[in-house]
Amino acid sequence: MKTIGIEGTAHTFSVGIFDGEEILALRSHTLRPEKGGIHPREAADHHVEHSGELIRGALEDAGLSKDDVELVAFSQGPGLGPCLRVAATVARALSINLNVPIIGVNHCIAHLEIGRFLTGAKDPVLLYASGGNTQVIALAGGRYRVFGETMDIGVGNMLDKFARESGIPFPGGPEIEKMAKNADRYIPLPYSIRGMDVSFSGLLTAALHLREKESMENIAYSIQETAFAMLTEVTERAMAHLGKDEVLLGGGVACNRRLREMVKTMAEERGARFYAPECRYCVDNAAMIAVLGHRMYQAGIRQKIEDTAVNQRFRTDEVDVIW
Ligand code: AMP
Ligand code: MG
Repeated sequence: MKTIGIEGTAHTFSVGIFDGEEILALRSHTLRPEKGGIHPREAADHHVEHSGELIRGALEDAGLSKDDVELVAFSQGPGLGPCLRVAATVARALSINLNVPIIGVNHCIAHLEIGRFLTGAKDPVLLYASGGNTQVIALAGGRYRVFGETMDIGVGNMLDKFARESGIPFPGGPEIEKMAKNADRYIPLPYSIRGMDVSFSGLLTAALHLREKESMENIAYSIQETAFAMLTEVTERAMAHLGKDEVLLGGGVACNRRLREMVKTMAEERGARFYAPECRYCVDNAAMIAVLGHRMYQAGIRQKIEDTAVNQRFRTDEVDVIW
């Protein structure tokens, strides 16, 4: 069943095509403001502007015509309202125009499902580390539940904010990773964990203050070591608590080699298996939306167009996992 996925929860608009076995196409475009952060309405305008060309391009890459599409899947939430509404509107227009069913999916669950699909992980604990979200998610009692999360900003957001305040444009994460490679010492920063929850705003403020007396390389390194150690610790706690022996990474920050290394080491030390998809499937992408939409449809889940209103606060544990 050829499924087209539409993603637009935040800064990225993306179109992916999945045929039940293979990802046939993935085209994405990300808003990169010259200065300042992401403004929801600017991002929504960006999505309107790029949606047509991305849909055409993805169909072309897959070698399909629009009439070959059999299902439309879109990310229904969580995310920024204006951005979600563009993605949902595009998806509804496609569904009505092509006369095929539509299915709205949860964006966070899609990060987990694409990871399972690509890596073969069966029942992992997912460390979902992205710009807006930072959660530790696992299946328990028929639903994906959030065992730990950030109490303030997402880890990617923290990296991007530090970068932006220091004159480095969005996305800041990859630049911080590069700078960290040339560090010569670690400077302790606030390490903030409560149970399985983390927070990053204290670390961000302390790191910004350090700029008066330390090199950017050393600060970048110290931010990474501290933030990623926190994430690794809460992920390990969730694994121990749930008795799970697989860990999966997702979200844009999972592109980071140092984070991968730290979580992999933790997994090896516990005798657990480590999985991480390649970077383009970690960042926001619509292949994951197509994969999850396809799974849900195959499991018998149906949605009417009236049920496709977006849900900015769509919780991970609202969905019965019957696939
Ligand atoms: P997402 O929100 O999942 O689309 O991912 C975007 C976030 O991932 C942004 O906050 C980026 O700064 C961050 N990111 C991307 N690549 C890296 C990297 N190599 N290291 C750290 N953060 C990264
Ligand atoms: Mg995401």
